[in-house]
Amino acid sequence: MASESCFVCERSVRIAGGIGDLWNFAFESTQGMTLELTDGAEFFLCFECMEALPDDHEPTEADVVDLRERTDPVEADGNDFWHWK
Ligand SMILES: [Zn+2]
Repeated sequence: MASESCFVCERSVRIAGGIGDLWNFAFESTQGMTLELTDGAEFFLCFECMEALPDDHEPTEADVVDLRERTDPVEADGNDFWHWK
C-alpha cells in the first residue's frame, strides 16, 4: 500500500497503489482520494475531510483551504481506529 498525506488534517492516508495492490484493492482499505476541483486545483483529502466540505456547491480551493484552517492536524500514529467509529 502507498500512503499520502491529507491536505486538510495532515494524516497519513493509506491508498491502493501499484499493480501489486490490484487484487487486494477494496474501498475499505483506501481512506482518501485526490479531489479535482473545477478550477483545476488538486488536493489529496481523506474521506472524513472530504465529507466536511460544503455540499451545497462544488468545493473550491478556498473551501479546502478554509477547512484546513479550521482543522487541527492529526498525528499519524498508524492506528486505524478512527476509520471504524
Ligand atoms: Zn483529512
